[in-house]
Amino acid sequence: MSAMIRYYSTNRNLSHVSGLTPFRGTVSFREALLMGQAPDEGLFMPDAIPSLSMGEIMALKGKPYVEAAFLVAGSFLAGEIGLDKLRWIVEDAYNFDVPLERVTEGGGKYIMRLDQGPTASFKDFAARMMARLMSMVRDPEKRLNVLVATSGDTGSAVGEAFKGVPGIDVTILYPRGEVSGRQKKQLDTIGQNVRAISVDGKFDDCQDLVKQAFADPSLNNLNLTSANSINFGRILPQTIYYVYAYSQLAVGGEEIIFSVPSGNFGNALGCEYARRMGLPVKTLVMPTNENDEFPRFLETGDYDKVSPSRACLSNAMNVGHPSNLARFFDLFGGTVDRNGLVHRYPDREEMKRHIYSVSITDAETKKTIKRIYETYGVLLEPHGAVGWRGLEDYLEKRGDFPLCVSLETAHPAKFPNEINELLDIDPKLPQSMKDVDAREGEPVFLDADDDTFRTYLRRHLSG
Ligand SMILES: *Cc1c(COP(=O)(O)O)cnc(C)c1O
Repeated sequence: MSAMIRYYSTNRNLSHVSGLTPFRGTVSFREALLMGQAPDEGLFMPDAIPSLSMGEIMALKGKPYVEAAFLVAGSFLAGEIGLDKLRWIVEDAYNFDVPLERVTEGGGKYIMRLDQGPTASFKDFAARMMARLMSMVRDPEKRLNVLVATSGDTGSAVGEAFKGVPGIDVTILYPRGEVSGRQKKQLDTIGQNVRAISVDGKFDDCQDLVKQAFADPSLNNLNLTSANSINFGRILPQTIYYVYAYSQLAVGGEEIIFSVPSGNFGNALGCEYARRMGLPVKTLVMPTNENDEFPRFLETGDYDKVSPSRACLSNAMNVGHPSNLARFFDLFGGTVDRNGLVHRYPDREEMKRHIYSVSITDAETKKTIKRIYETYGVLLEPHGAVGWRGLEDYLEKRGDFPLCVSLETAHPAKFPNEINELLDIDPKLPQSMKDVDAREGEPVFLDADDDTFRTYLRRHLSG
């Protein structure tokens, strides 16, 4: 068996940063998964990237999504997780469709709809696989307690993903006044091993409560862990659908362009890893909304985070300093810390050979939703529209290309008001969301106070 992949920290090369001791070691996948982030607050990176041959990729043509998941995840996890266990994980996680919808007649322009999972966002792909991986690698003698602070969508994707997963309990904190009615219902009613806490405070308060709990040694016996978006266990599953899309659409060997509407850059990072595994990606298009720190960096060479982040229609992408930028910088030879301070700039020319980025305004986003629906009868929501408009912008500037896939990351029914206002139609709810309307459940109500939260954890969780 080949040597197992080890995981290092993006902060390993830092020197003299106050309060930080760079972590220069490496950990196994299992450790990276359970730790979430490195001890120096850096992000874990694989020290080797497995490769896939064109033959292996094209053998997936016509096969179900789980076969792509098994191939890609298996190549990363060889030696860490038994293949029979991995097969169970991918079959249990991916029990929904991944539609590839042709947009233009003739011409290979496609939308990949990643919105058919239980919470109708692409985050289901990563969360469902990570939950099952965690269940597999945890210490079987102890319960694992996942804490998540959410401003809405991530919490329900994570909660649904862990629902019924043996040996793990999930506690979700959300800001009482800042989630929509539908989000609240989705969070409060997951049930089983998942508990929602409605916090009398803001999203930042929820995050602080979780951080304080992790930092409190007296809670060590509760075996707390996080499931946030910087966990490498959430990146790995996001490499799979690029390989899947290529295998279904390509003849084999030709290049493809992907457009990925980007916020924290975890989704786009999956595409960059897929390219490094051998997928012939000509260009990774990474459109952002009006939080334009990354396209400005590619253009000017200076990185300045947007702070505070701008509130746009594509609200899951309202990020002024993407957490996974540290991983992109690292892959191209640079270092940026969690505060957005650049310690070493990456090779920007090399980045620009593979990556294109553009900022799409809310006005353009709305126009795109309307135009694509009226021209092609294809319904997009704000995130997918940013992706599509970014692809168009790239093709206008660099010339047309025969095979392009733009990702739709949420279901249009999650944005009923915007869609109705623009198109005068009511998007049909997917079954998973209809089921939510009929569910019952109450959250726990807590003040945004550390002691109250810790007392709650001690009373209600067991390690
Ligand atoms: C989270 C999210 C994004 C952004 O994905 P990143 O991996 O953070 O770049 C885009 N669209 C939707 C619907 C999301 O929920």
